[in-house]
Amino acid sequence: MVHYFHMWRESDKGHCQKNKEKTQAKKRAHYLKNKKKILAQQKLYYLKNIEKISAYSRIQSKKYHWENREAILVKKRIYNAKTFSQRHAYARKNRDSIKKRMDKHNHDIKFEVFSHYSKGKPKCACCEESIFEFLTTEHIDGKGSEHRRREGIKTGKGTYSWLKKNGYPSGFKILCFNCNCGQNVTKGVCPHLLKEIK
Ligand SMILES: [Zn+2]
Ligand SMILES: [Zn+2]
Repeated sequence: MVHYFHMWRESDKGHCQKNKEKTQAKKRAHYLKNKKKILAQQKLYYLKNIEKISAYSRIQSKKYHWENREAILVKKRIYNAKTFSQRHAYARKNRDSIKKRMDKHNHDIKFEVFSHYSKGKPKCACCEESIFEFLTTEHIDGKGSEHRRREGIKTGKGTYSWLKKNGYPSGFKILCFNCNCGQNVTKGVCPHLLKEIK
């Protein structure tokens, strides 16, 4: 009896499995056929309920983290110990190529930002100096240092990526270092312009 029962269970299991696969395949085909519509519906639903959804997932993830905090901590520690040495070894081995890649990345951002504010080839807004290495950004109302402090920007690179990230806000222009420093000496007007005024 037990034997039969067992057999029945086994065959039933197989049947269920087949059915499951069938329905899954059907679902998948339906999804593939109506992918665009379904995704649009999902997006619409998400946008409509964005606050509810994000509040719910925030609570869920907090709950999960709280309930599994010790296991998570152990996992994190193991992961960090493993990857720390790997990362260091990788960085040591590839120092030159990493630096090259970073330099190119920074140069590209700078070029993009300067081209935007120069409306084409980067050049000084005052004297039209176009040697790229001579150029820098200038806060039009002269509040560059205040702006950098407020945004926690410490370098030129930081300013350029901030400008790009924030969609190129107005109030900035490109100047060469000569015009930039010159106007600091002559109270906000570049010596080039003072010469013209005289
Ligand atoms: Zn200039
Ligand atoms: Zn000038």
